[in-house]
Amino acid sequence: MLSGPSGVGKSTVVAHMRKAHPEVWLSVSATTRKPRPGEQDGVQYFFVDDEEFDKLIANGELLEWAEFAGNRYGTPRQAVLDRLEAGEPVLLEIDLQGARQVRETMPEAQLVFLAPPSWDELVRRLTGRGTESPEVIERRLAVAKVELAAESEFDVTLVNTSVEDVARELLALLR
Ligand code: 5GP
Repeated sequence: MLSGPSGVGKSTVVAHMRKAHPEVWLSVSATTRKPRPGEQDGVQYFFVDDEEFDKLIANGELLEWAEFAGNRYGTPRQAVLDRLEAGEPVLLEIDLQGARQVRETMPEAQLVFLAPPSWDELVRRLTGRGTESPEVIERRLAVAKVELAAESEFDVTLVNTSVEDVARELLALLR
């Protein structure tokens, strides 16, 4: 399970790894967040409204879920269980609250923390993405402070100095 502050580059690292290794399965989360330009329903996320998300929770269809910077995100349960049953590795890219929930329900899961090279670099990346308003960036930075402080809860920390290196390390951990 890969976690780490917003803007640290989790999606970039995972995308880089899966380009070379498309066989690595990544769970597609449901979210109430609106798609960013270029994001497609069913690819980066299943984009749902609040009512649909409520239903997913009520029906027990989420392995974990969390509210993050004003939107809700959750991991569809069945797809993960199917992979695990088949003995295949499962990769989740989720926030700290989700990682804590999975640790409770699946103590054997390996928790990987992706850390930025520095705080300034994180601010630069989150701002430079250019997809969020200043208010949203502020909110995400506030959450990032909390998430960075929780690094010690994780089994492994990878520092995102090079996308190539981290993607390779992550692949090795999954195998
Ligand atoms: P973003 O809006 O930038 O795509 O994601 C915001 C945060 O939500 C990121 O830290 C991301 O890892 C996390 N996230 C994405 N999907 C899930 C999920 O299914 N559950 C949880 N708990 N967090 C998620």
